[in-house]
Amino acid sequence: MAKVLIPTPLRQYSEKHDSVELTGTTVGEVLGALTAKFPDLRKQLFNDEGKLRSFVNVYLNDEDIRYLKKDATPVAASDTLSIVPSIAGGSAGVAPPPLASLSNDEIMRYSRHLIMPEVGMEGQLRLKNASVLLVGTGGLGAPLGMYLAAAGVGRLGLVDFDVVDFTNLHRQIIHGTKDVGRKKLDSASDTIADINPNVKIERHDTMLSSENALEICANYDLIIDGTDNFPTRYLVNDACVLLKKPNVYGSIFRFEGQASIFAYPGGPCYRCLYPEPPPPGLVPSCAEGGVLGILPGIIGLIQATEAVKLILGVGETLVGRLVLYDALAMRFRELKLRRNPECPACGDHPTITKLIDYQEFCGIPQHEPPPAPGTKEGEIDAVDVKRKMDQGEQFVLLDVREPHEYLICSIPTSKLIPLGDLPKRVNELDTATEIVAHCKSGVRSAKAVEFLKQAGFKKVKNMKGGILAWSDKVDPKVPKY
Ligand code: ZN
Repeated sequence: MAKVLIPTPLRQYSEKHDSVELTGTTVGEVLGALTAKFPDLRKQLFNDEGKLRSFVNVYLNDEDIRYLKKDATPVAASDTLSIVPSIAGGSAGVAPPPLASLSNDEIMRYSRHLIMPEVGMEGQLRLKNASVLLVGTGGLGAPLGMYLAAAGVGRLGLVDFDVVDFTNLHRQIIHGTKDVGRKKLDSASDTIADINPNVKIERHDTMLSSENALEICANYDLIIDGTDNFPTRYLVNDACVLLKKPNVYGSIFRFEGQASIFAYPGGPCYRCLYPEPPPPGLVPSCAEGGVLGILPGIIGLIQATEAVKLILGVGETLVGRLVLYDALAMRFRELKLRRNPECPACGDHPTITKLIDYQEFCGIPQHEPPPAPGTKEGEIDAVDVKRKMDQGEQFVLLDVREPHEYLICSIPTSKLIPLGDLPKRVNELDTATEIVAHCKSGVRSAKAVEFLKQAGFKKVKNMKGGILAWSDKVDPKVPKY
């Protein structure tokens, strides 16, 4: 009988045993007895050809048996076999084991990595073999995409359907001024290809949804959440929990950011931290509340660092820790996170066994209510505009009247850009945000809507009857003139 020690990450496959006594006269026989006892361990330890995987080491007492013939190496009753996966503190296999080699050009490019023992040739090959999905190529996705490409991550998936807007440029540094109006996927791919042509870019020109998330995420070793809205955040979390893929999380608002790693074996998930989303409108988005342009750089690079550590299997990761960053105070704080056994996603008895409707879960109306009687296509009734405000929906109420009219009366939260100024001030508006235009009676705002649609804005509506209708139907305190 020889003793076999099983490391923590592999105990999920050994019915939680940390050691077992097994019979066998050679290392090969003992390992055969081990995988016969725990069949789930077999594919963790051996590849399809029956060879020990390169990220798993087996030691006979103090000796690494990779350099011995395991089938012929004798084992005595007093011997101990230790299984040591090379990924520190992780379950085997965030990234597949290194298979490829580096070209001379790559060796030169990554030389400052290669001379660090924590990376070295093996680590750089791990990076090359790794695949990372970036959900979003905006504020967080921009530095993530650029640095992960530069660091040599072999395959980067990008999910985005948006177009570069002028207001993105103060933080989304993967896009340049010349890219305004281009698809973010095109612009981000060009930048990444320029930084490192060795990176394979996979483009997902779509919005991540309950229909496509599992299929897309399944093709990557780890997922990075660079989203800016709660439905997608919960969607990414649940998809990662279901697929057992690490979710490298980051979020930003004004001067503050958060980062952690969710859905890692044994660690918590986003729902353990925040079981429920805030009601719509309570937490403003960056478009609404603003964000310091540099902030996504800091949080995005914390995420990039964690992604690289997970791939290399080095250091102490953010699994079970939430880092809070306050740029104004220039202070990092850290909170311990624990997996909640009651968690509906990753708990002991999960109720979320497939992806759900995340718009509904986050309290966001799924369908536009039918237009009020008498309104035409592209028009919206003043009452419906008020309802959107009350529900905290994000949109810009654009007043296209003249400044002197605005002084007479205005609707709170409206943004004034007189119709004649619209062409030269159109870059103050964001194509991603819905716009409701209004004037006094609805004629000038119809022209504004027409102009904006030609300029590439898709989500624009005209408030029927203008501020006069608002006074009649919503707020009689607004004077008519
Ligand atoms: Zn959870």
